[in-house]
Amino acid sequence: MHAFRTILLGASALVAIGVCAGAAPAPKAASASNANPFAQPSPLPLQAPQFDKIKDSDYQPAIEEGMKQQLAEIGKIANNSAAPTFDNTVVEMEKSGQMLNRATQTFFNVVGANTNPALDKVQTAVAPKLAAHQDAIFLNPKLFARVKAVYDQRDTLHLDPESQQLLKIYYKQFIHAGANLSDPDKAKLRALNKEEATLSTAFQQKLLAAGKAGALVIDNKADLAGLSDQEIAAAADAAKTRKLSGKWVIPLQNTTQQPLLVSLKNRAIREKLFDNSWTRAEKNDANDTRSIIQRLAQERAEKAKLLGYPNYAAYTLYDQMAKTPDAVQKFIGALTGPTRAKAADEARQIQAAIDKDGQHFQLKPWDWEMYSEKVRKARYDLDQNQLKPYFELNKVLKDGVFYAAGKLYGLTFRERHDLPVYQPDVRVFEVHDKDGSILGLMYFDYFKRDNKQGGAWMSNFVNESTLLKQKPVIYNVANFTKPAPGQPALLSWDDVTTMFHEFGHALHGFFANTKYPSISGTSTARDWVEFPSQFNEHWALYPDVLKHFAVNYKTGQPIPQALVDKIKKSQTWNQGYELGELLAASELDMQWHMLKADAPKQDVDKFEAQALKTTHTDFPNVPTRYRSSYFLHIWANGYAAGYYAYQWTVMLDDDAYAWFDGHGGLTRANGQRFRDMILSKGHTEDYDTMFRRFYGKDPDVGPMLKHRGLTPDNSAPSDTAKPGTPARS
Ligand SMILES: [Zn+2]
Repeated sequence: MHAFRTILLGASALVAIGVCAGAAPAPKAASASNANPFAQPSPLPLQAPQFDKIKDSDYQPAIEEGMKQQLAEIGKIANNSAAPTFDNTVVEMEKSGQMLNRATQTFFNVVGANTNPALDKVQTAVAPKLAAHQDAIFLNPKLFARVKAVYDQRDTLHLDPESQQLLKIYYKQFIHAGANLSDPDKAKLRALNKEEATLSTAFQQKLLAAGKAGALVIDNKADLAGLSDQEIAAAADAAKTRKLSGKWVIPLQNTTQQPLLVSLKNRAIREKLFDNSWTRAEKNDANDTRSIIQRLAQERAEKAKLLGYPNYAAYTLYDQMAKTPDAVQKFIGALTGPTRAKAADEARQIQAAIDKDGQHFQLKPWDWEMYSEKVRKARYDLDQNQLKPYFELNKVLKDGVFYAAGKLYGLTFRERHDLPVYQPDVRVFEVHDKDGSILGLMYFDYFKRDNKQGGAWMSNFVNESTLLKQKPVIYNVANFTKPAPGQPALLSWDDVTTMFHEFGHALHGFFANTKYPSISGTSTARDWVEFPSQFNEHWALYPDVLKHFAVNYKTGQPIPQALVDKIKKSQTWNQGYELGELLAASELDMQWHMLKADAPKQDVDKFEAQALKTTHTDFPNVPTRYRSSYFLHIWANGYAAGYYAYQWTVMLDDDAYAWFDGHGGLTRANGQRFRDMILSKGHTEDYDTMFRRFYGKDPDVGPMLKHRGLTPDNSAPSDTAKPGTPARS
């Protein structure tokens, strides 16, 4: 669950900027191809993409022409004979690259959510070119000299605060991108960036193929015992799509644990499904990703060294709220002790449930979900299948996600059936502000497809910017199981929170109220960008909201209060596991990116085991949420040395929610304050300043530990006597 960055130029460190963020007024003469739908801003409302006109073959020429146009624009800025000013340098850069932006923002959406061999080919072709393009801008010495000249005069320019911030960010990005390097070193950096972009693309494509090939094929219906009729029908449908009629297929999700492990009764089948997941990209075949990882880790360390940093993590954390690898290590370290204790306690209770079931086996990771669910049921009498009828997708969306946004921010929504979409399941809504004016357009693409990357994400087709007179056009993508034809889409609690999460990112985008596109909305640090999204998850369980959307799809009855109480009480159960798998993944990421440039190529599996061990995140029976070989976030999606950010932002969102809790909860006044001080700001101010202004203090892990039941006094009651859970600092 993350804000997928469409301006993902390779996994380069420049993801958050964009000289290519923006898009609007027509480029003077789109000489090459007026027929190309990206040559001019879309004539559709708010410049919504013309999916009825765009052909797969339009993307590459548009991206290439867009790069050409931007280079010409940049050349004009760099060679301007007038003395450098903020307006003729920095503002002009913000206005550049609009055709490129239109093309890439749409392209990265379709290649992520609805790809095909032709689009894959385009991605392979353009990824290194885009990385080189980014370099051509940030390594242009004349351009840098002008930016530096403006930056050096910054104290006498009387710029408004947003412009000052933009200038500071541009300058640092140039330095970070290597503008101060000698010419030979610049050439080395260019080669490394290009290699990284190529490797990242290859990783992404191999992983998608590996995930598809790793789907579990079932020959005997009896092996599906435990699944619901709907799940079995969906598995039969998935088999049909793969021309395996008469069989059943369980597709893999891009995490270690698989959703159906909770209900598959046959232990051998569970182990098989888990094993398919665990080894999906380690089969020594064409889809094995390990040799790519070896080189990527090395290549990133070399790049960091070239730029004067001790390792890649130090290099990439410079513009984050955490700032240093040390701060990240301390943060994770503060959580591992309580997490280990909680997970061990959960494991004891799960083993007791296995024994009580008359089973004679020792708990393994593929048993965890099923027996954890049994404990939850026994202890809290809460069964996920009992919940599902209350979480019908349309109700969750309109009476939950939209309803909360109405209560907090006064928003209203109207579905549009007339705007073109890239796939028939995609839905479009007009978003109206509290005064009825149009805030933007929202696209939802919720169902899993074989040609969609795993996970869930949000991004923009069009960014907000008052400079470019643009309003946001935003999309959410997820991977919910598509119901069999004619059936309602019934969601798990996880899916429900995913909807709130991704829509939280969307709100960050819709409320953006900034002049410059490259610091607008979600164009913020990784360890900030998940704060609004995770904060929005809290409302799913807020009594007024939950009661509103959780209505039985068959009977129309609202969810019984007793069931709501059970959900709440059961919230802290399994948090040791859930936090454990995330901390393990966070450390894997950090350890790969703290390698030094002179380290030899690593054996991926050995390195992984060692990394988890030395950081005490090798929690027994709690495998990492992603293994190195299928860790898409860090190898291809711009989250290198940034996966910790999800937990860092939990600290922020739990703390902010504690503020709401102490100030009357779900009210328009509270929503307005959050909108004004956090959601509308993008990166127009420093992150710690924004948080402090909102709350009046710095964030701390207290509410996070409490919310997850990781403080000793707040732990779930235990059957067995246990020593106190010491908090480790
Ligand atoms: Zn997210």
